[in-house]
Amino acid sequence: MDRAALVELHLHLDISISFDVATRLEPGLTRTDYELDFRGPARCGDLAEFLQTTSRQVALLQSADALRLHTEDLVRRIAAEGVVYAELRFAPLLHTAAGMAPEAAVETVVETAARASAGAGIDTTLILCSLRHFSEAESLRTADLAVRFADHAVAFDLAGDEGGFSLSDHLPAFRRVIDAGVPYTVHAGEGAGPESVTEVLDLLAPKRLGHGVRAVEDPALVERIIRDQVHLETCPSCNVQLGLYPSMAQHPVDQLYRAGASISVSTDSRTSTVTTMPEEFAALGESFGWTPADRDRVSLMAIDAAFASPEVKQRVRRRITGEITG
Ligand SMILES: [Zn+2]
Repeated sequence: MDRAALVELHLHLDISISFDVATRLEPGLTRTDYELDFRGPARCGDLAEFLQTTSRQVALLQSADALRLHTEDLVRRIAAEGVVYAELRFAPLLHTAAGMAPEAAVETVVETAARASAGAGIDTTLILCSLRHFSEAESLRTADLAVRFADHAVAFDLAGDEGGFSLSDHLPAFRRVIDAGVPYTVHAGEGAGPESVTEVLDLLAPKRLGHGVRAVEDPALVERIIRDQVHLETCPSCNVQLGLYPSMAQHPVDQLYRAGASISVSTDSRTSTVTTMPEEFAALGESFGWTPADRDRVSLMAIDAAFASPEVKQRVRRRITGEITG
């Protein structure tokens, strides 16, 4: 029996809340309300519409207890799917509505993820997100948190509405993390086209891109990504849900993979997008004939690009190739 050891680099913690945890935080919440208000629609008009559906989840995660309960639950669930290494990302500034300090939010998730991961026998790393609609000051505040918690394996990311807001307000934040040697990734080529990917590559030279898939619209850009070994954190089902592609069969992940780009496959979220890691790979098998060998090859590319220590990378590689089990 084929037992997968999966690597997930692109998972938004704050839009992955389970029904079980949601009802514990909001007693009386019905399954119907959960399906309506917590799940993103099966097909969204665009990224901005998708992002509007995330507020109910974030509203429940405004205390250390809530963050703890949810982080433990999420780590348990991804471990049950066969994920052996995951990078969990969230925007600490979104968890301050009830008075929690962003430092406390980060501390809580750092501690809980470490404890839950050890308990589940997996490895996790945290990524702190700034968001495109944030002001320059808010973005810098998030970058400062990533620098301050760098010893706890925290990286930096810019997420949110790429088509609606410019990159310029976030350049000082990236300068700060780059100067401090904090690893970073950037969402690009999801809510906007190849020109957005080019802008991010020109100005920030990231080693990884969140999504990046719309680079396929510019063959020279794909060549550049391959030449410069920029890793693409693809999230195929989420992109189909957002209407970027009509179906999985028309998603460019296979084209990018066959062209020689370094790619990984992630869910993006477990709740706003209704999928799991095994379901993603099953869908890729159905649409493109991906085999367990393709899955393992992608998992190895993912761990190579991960924000993890050499020791963790080596352990995860050995789990993927079956040298160690469990
Ligand atoms: Zn994302």
